[in-house]
Amino acid sequence: MKLNSLFQSIQGEGRFQGYPSDFIRFFGCNLNCTYCDTKYTLSGDSFYFATPEEAAAKLNKSDIFDLCVTGGEPMCQEEELLKFLLLLSKKRISLETNGSLELEPLYRAFSAAKTDSELYFSVDWKTPGSGNPVFEEKNTGFLKKSGAGWIKFVAVRKEDLDFIEEKLELLDGIETYLSPVFEQGKEWFSAVEKFVKTHKNIRLQLQLHKILGIE
Ligand code: SF4
Repeated sequence: MKLNSLFQSIQGEGRFQGYPSDFIRFFGCNLNCTYCDTKYTLSGDSFYFATPEEAAAKLNKSDIFDLCVTGGEPMCQEEELLKFLLLLSKKRISLETNGSLELEPLYRAFSAAKTDSELYFSVDWKTPGSGNPVFEEKNTGFLKKSGAGWIKFVAVRKEDLDFIEEKLELLDGIETYLSPVFEQGKEWFSAVEKFVKTHKNIRLQLQLHKILGIE
């Protein structure tokens, strides 16, 4: 697997926000978002290779229950990613993905193996403000029927809120979060807060890792 890093921190977003977590950051992504805060995983030489066995052995030694698989886009290395996930033991895994690739095949293969870990998808549906709102819409049907994850939107500007408003009906039954881009400041936070107050089925979430200034 082509990786960027392994580290420990606090989960900054999603259902398990606030829990201590191990992180494994994959290198490489199929998108290139304007506000990407991990550009160093998109190109360049900040990567190393590890086998699924090597990475899983290191993480299985940790007594932290939560493991966040992030990137980059981990789904770009789907075959090796699956091997790695199947080698993990007693972990609650959150797989952070941009949702542009179909998730169900990986989930089915993981579930069929009946490991002692749990797998959830934290799906970041890219808005127009990201510069590339690419999304595999089959993923909404999959999340609805499996309950195996949630969707989050990161909003940069008003156009993003209009985009999210159009999608909300489709997301009924899926846990959905909305985060304002942290760097836009408090005025933008207020606009996002108003949006959440006037819409159903969406929760405001501030990116804890940005507030705390941690990775
Ligand atoms: S999908 Fe994520 S990692 Fe990829 S470019 Fe966008 S923000 Fe960066």
